[in-house]
Amino acid sequence: MAPPRLGTLAEDLALFVESATDRAVLLTDAEGRVTAWLKGAETLMGWGRDEIAGEPADRLYPIGDLTAGLPALERAAAADNGPQRSEGWRVRKDGSEFAADTTIVALRNPDGSLRGFGLSIVDITARKAAEQALAHSELHVRSILATVPSAMVVIDELGTMLSFSAAAEKLFGWSEADVIGRNVKMLMPNPDHDRHDQYLSRYRSTGERRIIGIGRIIVAQRRDGTQFPMELSVGEASSDGRRIFTGFIRDLSEEQRAEFKLQELQSELIHVARVSAMGTMASTLAHELNQPLTAIANYTHAASDLLGRDGAPPVDLLQEAVSEAAKEALRAGNIVRRLRDFVARGEVEQRVENLPDMIDEASRLALMGARERSVRTIFKIDPAIEKVVADRVQIQQVIVNLLRNAVDAIGEGAVREITVTTARDLQGMVRISVADTGSGIADEVQAQLFEAFASTKEQGMGLGLSICRTIVEAHGGRIWAEPREGGGTVFQFTIMSADGEEIDE
Ligand code: ADP
Repeated sequence: MAPPRLGTLAEDLALFVESATDRAVLLTDAEGRVTAWLKGAETLMGWGRDEIAGEPADRLYPIGDLTAGLPALERAAAADNGPQRSEGWRVRKDGSEFAADTTIVALRNPDGSLRGFGLSIVDITARKAAEQALAHSELHVRSILATVPSAMVVIDELGTMLSFSAAAEKLFGWSEADVIGRNVKMLMPNPDHDRHDQYLSRYRSTGERRIIGIGRIIVAQRRDGTQFPMELSVGEASSDGRRIFTGFIRDLSEEQRAEFKLQELQSELIHVARVSAMGTMASTLAHELNQPLTAIANYTHAASDLLGRDGAPPVDLLQEAVSEAAKEALRAGNIVRRLRDFVARGEVEQRVENLPDMIDEASRLALMGARERSVRTIFKIDPAIEKVVADRVQIQQVIVNLLRNAVDAIGEGAVREITVTTARDLQGMVRISVADTGSGIADEVQAQLFEAFASTKEQGMGLGLSICRTIVEAHGGRIWAEPREGGGTVFQFTIMSADGEEIDE
């Protein structure tokens, strides 16, 4: 094959360079005056070949660069050190500027003397913009990663970690450099560690979301191998057909610890309450049973007295005494059953009950013998306040206790009155008061009135009011005492009204 003619090569090269339209190619003499201006230069810079020929190429530089003598400096550098490449602003004929990548080469004569320069100017505005946008978004992502308060991990479809926030570094003990490019499963203990690749491939093939957009509580593993609970929310994004997943992680170990503490505390409290309730109940079983048993004794004594009398026994009175005794025996059985249930279940059996009936029954029991002691009882029962939510036996015990205490307090006083009142209280509650004209609360028990074993009585166990409080509070009510105007004490307690409800049978 014959070697190509040199002339043809030069012509081909010229043609080739001339065809380049994406850059301005020009030649200058040693002083920087334009000697050749190719088509690309026309297109990019706006000057026609004839306009620019012989003009200084310095005209392509912005004024600031000209003042600084930049074109001459660049030419000198190219002459001294070989081809120079730089980025800077260039000016079109219309005065508009663009970012350019300029290469300048010194051209020499065969004797080595400087003949001129070749310049190639490429418009890099678009590239610059893209680079800047990228840098900006990179910066943006960096700033998010550095400041987002929750740990954030970005992975690709294969689980390779792409970024790792500052909070994640702190949480996991790994630095970003440690983890970038590695499989995210390194942050998980088993079973997730071994299954995570599978989770991802299943998601890729089925698109079935198990965690994305849902959020889960899972266990994660720190660098030191310790594990902690975390809440993970995963978001998905795709660009150019590639998917990335962003995981936001909330460390739950603190919260869980606090919650666990709370649970511990609660169960402790329940335990304490249970033990004290059981203690109170067990030791007061006798106390409570005393009431119906005493009543039974009284009724049977009375019956026996009646039978012992001369003449025909008064059948009605006998019948009443015996049936009251039977009622009290049932009541005693009920108390035992309820106390046992209470201890077993720790709760009361609340139903809708008729309050006036409950008060009537309890008063008959509590005030047995009171008339003989010439205590007057006044009932101010509001008939409109009928239905309450109560464990009948327990609330009756409260009423009985308060009435018994009232009778005791009146003792041998001059005014001997007990007033039982019902009234509406705030927020759907009903208030029951027992007022006496007695001695008033003794100073020594005032402070612990409702606590166990506070008593001023020789035979007293000091349990009655503490049981009252337990019962009333279990009913969602409260109990308190205050001095009565004109002497004596008013005990009051509240229970829930059940207006509009049917009475439970
Ligand atoms: P106990 O009846 O075994 O004494 P309680 O809990 O019923 O136990 O009462 C505790 C103490 O409160 C009594 O000993 C008494 O001093 C005082 N108390 C209770 N009710 C009254 C009242 N209505 N008037 C004056 N003091 C009372």
